[in-house]
Amino acid sequence: MRGQAELGLDPESRGWMDGLQSAAAERDAVLARLHGLLLQVTRHEAGRTNGWVRLSGPDLDDLARQSAADALTAITAQLDGFRGQSRFRSWACKFAVFAVSATAGRRFWQARIMALDQDDWDRLPSSLHPHERAERNELLAALRRAADEDLSGEQRRVFTAVTLHGVPAAALATVLGSNRNAIYKALFEARRLLRARLAANGRDLAHLPRAPLTGSAWLDDLLAADPGDAGCDVAFHVLDRYAEAELNGTGPESRFPGVAAHLRRCEACHQDYQGLLAAVEGLRARRVCEMTDADMRPHDEGLRGAPVPVPQPCFGDLHVHMA
Ligand SMILES: [Zn+2]
Repeated sequence: MRGQAELGLDPESRGWMDGLQSAAAERDAVLARLHGLLLQVTRHEAGRTNGWVRLSGPDLDDLARQSAADALTAITAQLDGFRGQSRFRSWACKFAVFAVSATAGRRFWQARIMALDQDDWDRLPSSLHPHERAERNELLAALRRAADEDLSGEQRRVFTAVTLHGVPAAALATVLGSNRNAIYKALFEARRLLRARLAANGRDLAHLPRAPLTGSAWLDDLLAADPGDAGCDVAFHVLDRYAEAELNGTGPESRFPGVAAHLRRCEACHQDYQGLLAAVEGLRARRVCEMTDADMRPHDEGLRGAPVPVPQPCFGDLHVHMA
């Protein structure tokens, strides 16, 4: 039965969809072709994000292969979710990039031993001018007190792991038996509560959404929690359309303001988005097919600037499921 996903597709996307919904022999050939495309994307993405997973050679390629297999499984299971709002390739690449992040998160702990309950607050911030250090020490004491008194154990654990120790959300989700969206919600709520507490205690942090702050820039950045933030699940849902809009120059920030706000504050989704942009752009230029080992190197393109988003409803109840 043909559903909405079959309506109004570009010829290439229709070809993929028809092939993936065809009889067994033809479908197997299309699956093999799709797997090849996904593997090209995951190999590039594994190299791009290898700065935090720290694999090399066969281990890095194994990560790419596992990710491509996981992406293929997810795509075939969710084929009805493709509505033709982007090109099929862009939609499929989204699963490939996300699978690399998830697989890397599972392997993050293979090379590390870290107690999640440690909280070395002196790691914040990493560099300051001497005249800023006295204020920083005072702010840190207030921040730590607020974390102890106002955050749940789950929120505190997520906040300190991400903020103090730079644990990627995918890795944290693995060790806590949670998922990226739940981790981010706990982090978001921790930021919001800490910000409100410091404001209530007379710090110069304005607690109204997006109000200009007169406090320390590092603390403002640390506790920024935009109520228009759409969250990880919504971001994943539209990321292919968002990437195509950016590459087409049609302003994704105005179409998806909640996702724009999210990509500014969620490192995991921001990184996936950078990977998706690279993949879609590479496929467009047919450069992915010509990738060599020289492409398998880590790099970080940094945050992209984006205009201030229009407010949207934020999260409802915020829960994180811990093991
Ligand atoms: Zn996210």
